Amino acid sequence: MPSLSPSQSLSLSHDFADALPALARPWAADPAPAPQLLVVNEGLAVELGLDPGFLRSPAGVALLVGAALPAGAQPVAQAYAGHQFGGFSPRLGDGRALLLGELTAPDGTLRDLHLKGSGPTPFARAGDGLAAVGPMLREYVMSEAMHALGIPTTRSLAVVATGREVLRETALPGAVLVRTASSHLRVGSVEFARGTGDIAVLRSVVDYAIARHHPEAADDEVPALALFRAVVRTQADLVARWMLVGFIHGVMNTDNMTLSGETIDYGPCAFLDAYDPATVYSSIDTGGRYAYGNQPYIAEWNLARLAEAMLPLFDDDLERAVEKAQGVLAEFRPRFAEARAAGMRRKLGLVPDAAVSGSAVSGSAVSDVEVEALAGDFHEMLGRTRADYTSTFRSLSDAARGDAAALEAALGGDPALAGWLDRWRAHEPAPEVMDAANPIYVPRNHLVEEALAAATDGNLEPLGWLTTVLSAPFTERAGAERYAEPAGPDFAAGYQTFCGT
Ligand code: AMP
Ligand code: MG
Repeated sequence: MPSLSPSQSLSLSHDFADALPALARPWAADPAPAPQLLVVNEGLAVELGLDPGFLRSPAGVALLVGAALPAGAQPVAQAYAGHQFGGFSPRLGDGRALLLGELTAPDGTLRDLHLKGSGPTPFARAGDGLAAVGPMLREYVMSEAMHALGIPTTRSLAVVATGREVLRETALPGAVLVRTASSHLRVGSVEFARGTGDIAVLRSVVDYAIARHHPEAADDEVPALALFRAVVRTQADLVARWMLVGFIHGVMNTDNMTLSGETIDYGPCAFLDAYDPATVYSSIDTGGRYAYGNQPYIAEWNLARLAEAMLPLFDDDLERAVEKAQGVLAEFRPRFAEARAAGMRRKLGLVPDAAVSGSAVSGSAVSDVEVEALAGDFHEMLGRTRADYTSTFRSLSDAARGDAAALEAALGGDPALAGWLDRWRAHEPAPEVMDAANPIYVPRNHLVEEALAAATDGNLEPLGWLTTVLSAPFTERAGAERYAEPAGPDFAAGYQTFCGT
């Protein structure tokens, strides 16, 4: 395998492979017959200390498909287990992915460089190890949109078409996604470690996660319990943020939940159109397990599986270990409620924002109870009228500025609206706060599908527009009106998403 010349100076470490050999299978990417760069994330490249010009060159593209390795890189497929739709699979792992290694970004942080769709690994089971252009671009668009919305997530550096055909229902062009993450440690990584039956392996995964993500936990009396608490908190905050923007992950299996608190594995994910907690877009989620409104409960359920896997490290006595785990898990609900309530305040403009008012105001004139009541009534109107979630929230800014026409149109003359508006306006909601909390642009399902279909046919222009608009979701962009509008009712009614296979 050719190495890059030192002048191209990307060096990757192999921290994970060294620290956790029981979870790392050395492996190489399949050669891509005719690699062609479809999209490269120049902003992210710069953040990572990579030269976008180099990434566009043949040598850069070879790196992006795993055909050329930076000197010293030791790519591995990572082992993990996972509860999938409630059932436990002891051996999942990267069936079609590789951790190339970790790079140290200019800001000093360690970031995984990871390929998806790079060929079958020992974990591929019946899968072909490949990925199609559409789903890989989908992950690119969705993850970068989430990042622009301020939500912790893995990032997407590039998508490269491989020139290989991938057989799904039809033959599709194949691709590799190159992504970065603060790590790829998952709840399922800990479940796998526990499943080895070797407590030293379990301890090594926990110690590694602590060192990489929650170093303060090392000083705790029971570091593993402190790690568990940190994950509970970061996941409560994350899922609250999903809920606030109307994001539906779609496949919240424990192998798709990180210890870092980053959103990971964008498969059948989607954003809400009409507000309805029962919304499910994923074609495989027939029972609605991962419906929009279930997400906090599923996150808590997944965290209980994490605690079970870690129990031997909480206490030598099983009963005491369970008690400790339950005590920490009980923090999830209040933490989630607090994060959601704080976000809902901003969405309703009821937070006196230090940046706006020029002074930090502690304690708002609007009580938590009143915010909850206003939010609850607003969601009831959204549900009754099946109004578009994103644009209706955004129309509150104009309503606060005195023009409620868009809000009234969206809520279609709901009889409760007039009274609600009076009550809400009495609190003098701040439009600037809402402008920074309620996005204008989210990756709407019909726009994503349109861009992916064009890209699959070789036209990358709609994808370029979409990613540009989504990179500044709170800022109105002239000429981008259609990106702010919901799909027609026919599209929304029949929309389904498919797992990224
Ligand atoms: P997901 O639900 O997409 O996160 O994937 C669940 C598991 O299936 C993981 O272990 C993946 O590596 C594996 N997998 C998904 N698609 C493929 C594929 N085409 N080939 C091999 N493994 C796959
Ligand atoms: Mg996954």
